[in-house]
Amino acid sequence: MTDDTTTRPRTAQSLSDLTGQVAVVTGAARGIGKAIGAHLAERGARVVLTDLTSPAASAEEIRASGVPGTVRGVELDVRDPDQVRGVIGEVAGDLGRLDILVSNAGTASRAGLADITLDEWQRDIDTNLRGTFLTCQAAVHPYMIEQGSGRLITISSISGIMGGPTSGGSGGGRSGPAYAASKGGVIALTKWLAKELRGTGITANSVAPGPIATELTASVEYDFSQQLVPRMGYPEEIAAAVTYLASPGADFVTGQVLRVCGGAAIG
Ligand code: NAP
Repeated sequence: MTDDTTTRPRTAQSLSDLTGQVAVVTGAARGIGKAIGAHLAERGARVVLTDLTSPAASAEEIRASGVPGTVRGVELDVRDPDQVRGVIGEVAGDLGRLDILVSNAGTASRAGLADITLDEWQRDIDTNLRGTFLTCQAAVHPYMIEQGSGRLITISSISGIMGGPTSGGSGGGRSGPAYAASKGGVIALTKWLAKELRGTGITANSVAPGPIATELTASVEYDFSQQLVPRMGYPEEIAAAVTYLASPGADFVTGQVLRVCGGAAIG
């Protein structure tokens, strides 16, 4: 088997450098997605933040912080196949390529089995699972396949591994069945993609966060008694994991679920 291992970049700098790479992040007007966009731009990537509303303001904020990469904001509802194809196509056309897709947009219904409505069920399934499928499909076919390279990074959740935390504390606490099912689906889809894309130069990995301090969790009080690092995580801690998976240093990593959860889910 031939390989270019002698010419591959190996220094710490080259293994983390994203200069010039084109990245699309969904659900990136705030929270985890915005932090991911900022970190990728700090490594030199040309980042497109997408969201239902107002990604432009977040893009401006990141630009103003003086990152070496470029940042722009584009509105995108990940549930809509035409919008997804349109935005991904526009990015690849304008910037000439598409290297990194971070499928981050998500909603979390907290209604339980007795109370969840079909609309709430459908919203989580459509945003979290259908949205991840649509964005990955549009990025891979044709852009990443034609390039012979690409990074698909999905944002799942430890809820998709554990079925949600066993204790939710007060304030609505535990995420509901649609959220857990959709995130379990995201993990299975990511592994399926990794296998499907064998030998194409495209990798697929997922980051599974535990409780992270964002608007999504602002009204929730967590019980940290079973968590090994007993605190909320920060969006930047998820961004650091995503940036690693996007970097040349993760070239040999695919089909993996990286849990960034303070040890809430191990084994
Ligand atoms: P967040 O603060 O609520 O941000 C999510 C963003 O996604 C919002 O800007 C939201 O826009 C956007 N969004 C919702 N539906 C969308 C759609 N159909 N199309 C495009 N964008 C859409 O949540 P977060 O905490 O940063 O979560 C980001 C991801 O991490 C989600 O997938 C979430 O499930 C996952 N996660 C979070 C935690 C946590 O503890 N925070 C834990 C595990 C996993 P609007 O505001 O306009 O609705």
